[in-house]
Amino acid sequence: MSSASQPAVSNFIRSIIDADLASGKHSGIVTRFPPEPNGYLHIGHAKSICLNFGLAFDYYGKCNLRFDDTNPEKESEEYAQSIQDDVRWLGFQWDGEVRWASDYFEQLHQYAVELIQKGLAYVDDLTAEQMREYRGTLTQAGRNSPYRERPVAENLDLFARMRAGEFADGSRVLRAKIDMSSGNINLRDPAIYRIRRAHHIRTGDRWCIYPMYDYTHCISDALEGITHSLCTLEFEDHRPLYDWVLDNITIPCHPRQYEFSRLELHYTITSKRKLLQLVNEGHVSGWDDPRMPTIIGMRRRGYTPEGIREFARRIGVSKSGNTVDMAVLESAIREDLENSAPRVMAVIRPLKVVVTNFVAGKTGSREAGFHPDHPDFGARLVPFGKEIWIEADDFSENPPAGWQRLTVGGEVRLRYSYVLRCDEAIRDAGGNMVELRCTIDPDTLGKNPSGRKVKGVIHWLSGAHALPAEFRLYDRLFTVPEPDAGKDADYCKYLNPVSLIVAQGWVESCVKDAEPETRYQFERLGYFCTDRHDHKPGAKPVFNRTVTLKDSWVKGQITR
Ligand code: ATP
Ligand code: MG
Repeated sequence: MSSASQPAVSNFIRSIIDADLASGKHSGIVTRFPPEPNGYLHIGHAKSICLNFGLAFDYYGKCNLRFDDTNPEKESEEYAQSIQDDVRWLGFQWDGEVRWASDYFEQLHQYAVELIQKGLAYVDDLTAEQMREYRGTLTQAGRNSPYRERPVAENLDLFARMRAGEFADGSRVLRAKIDMSSGNINLRDPAIYRIRRAHHIRTGDRWCIYPMYDYTHCISDALEGITHSLCTLEFEDHRPLYDWVLDNITIPCHPRQYEFSRLELHYTITSKRKLLQLVNEGHVSGWDDPRMPTIIGMRRRGYTPEGIREFARRIGVSKSGNTVDMAVLESAIREDLENSAPRVMAVIRPLKVVVTNFVAGKTGSREAGFHPDHPDFGARLVPFGKEIWIEADDFSENPPAGWQRLTVGGEVRLRYSYVLRCDEAIRDAGGNMVELRCTIDPDTLGKNPSGRKVKGVIHWLSGAHALPAEFRLYDRLFTVPEPDAGKDADYCKYLNPVSLIVAQGWVESCVKDAEPETRYQFERLGYFCTDRHDHKPGAKPVFNRTVTLKDSWVKGQITR
């Protein structure tokens, strides 16, 4: 499989790899995708996955999947499993077994002992608050901890006892001894081990000290022989620490870290922590709610792996801001579905039409292909009948200028069928439109009427043949482009109250046996996908609206 259906777009990371291969610095590349199993993956992670796995694919290299499992309280097997499913669903396969930072806990510990022996790490007894105070600020140098000059032997002893569980959680840490006056706060003696009695999904209760992310990450990369360690820009200031650790331990490999900008997507949020809040507070039905920017949410909504990979290709990889409008993602999905989804008709807000001049046995039906460019998709009969459903929005008693749909006394073409004239609109006692009385021009099945032009084409269904169906119409989850802009933004204030509308309508009976996750284009309405969980073949179909059609596709597209 290619990382995308289109040729790769060059970027600064590819240029670096090209140079490293040309100079002989590397004979092949090894990348990794290193998620923390503390939530479900989102569209930002998809960017990173497509980058890391895509590079390995294109350069005939390898990409590891490595869980950064150093925060036991927040991590779970469920998350770890979902991440593997998501990577595979996106179309990628990691090299060999899944790897875990916890597989290296023993080695990480050994390297910490080495740093202590070299006088480059010490056990500190300051409280967290004192440590913050001693750290200084961006404009003010930090101060050395009174414990900084502990003798090596004492540090070795204390560290061994930390591991043995002699001290309370949070009472001591192991710190790298670097430079408390460094302009880079990450180098002001960062903690590399902390005491935390927490059950770990892999190592159980074997450890009560856990290595910190920065310390763990570089060593894990080196142990796996990663050549290019790609991460997002907020780690740029951590790179000196990444290099310091690897420069000061006995390890034969020193991967290089390169940073690229995070993807931010308008009208949504890309942070596991915030997405978890939406789930916990019940703003969405779960991590896989089709409005969520999670990979499983997008999957349930009907997005395709090909479309997401194409999106990643289009947004590219650079160091400059990568805030992208939802429209870019939607058009990548739409373009993929345009060619791959069979086209049928559905009516979401039905209005009944009685065809008064219908003659059983005489008024005909036509066959229609499932895709104009793919005869291989096959065809079905589009049955006509005395009673048909049309979309309520396709009729107006007082149409605006330029109206090409149905009105009393006007004509439209029924897709794949006759030209229909509306003779009368019928209202009930309450004044609600309940039915249209119409006639067809019997001479227009598959041919133009003579002497006049009928411009409008609408979709419809035969009442006697259509299947009742549920349509879940999804819209953006937030009403503003940057719901979480600003540090303490209360993004829940900007939730879109109509991000989900459930409608009961009708669909062509040819979809009757569709499996879950089957995608269709409903003509003039958009792309839809049968729900992964609630749709059962043979029962009343349940469709999620994936994305509407291009605005320009048909005048008068119905989006609600
Ligand atoms: P979150 O803030 O959502 O928890 P994270 O960066 O903490 O994200 P990790 O599990 O640590 O999540 O991420 C795994 C990889 O995915 C990292 O290499 C990270 O840089 C990358 N990544 C995460 N979010 C984005 C994003 N928005 N755009 C690009 N890459 C991302
Ligand atoms: Mg993280």
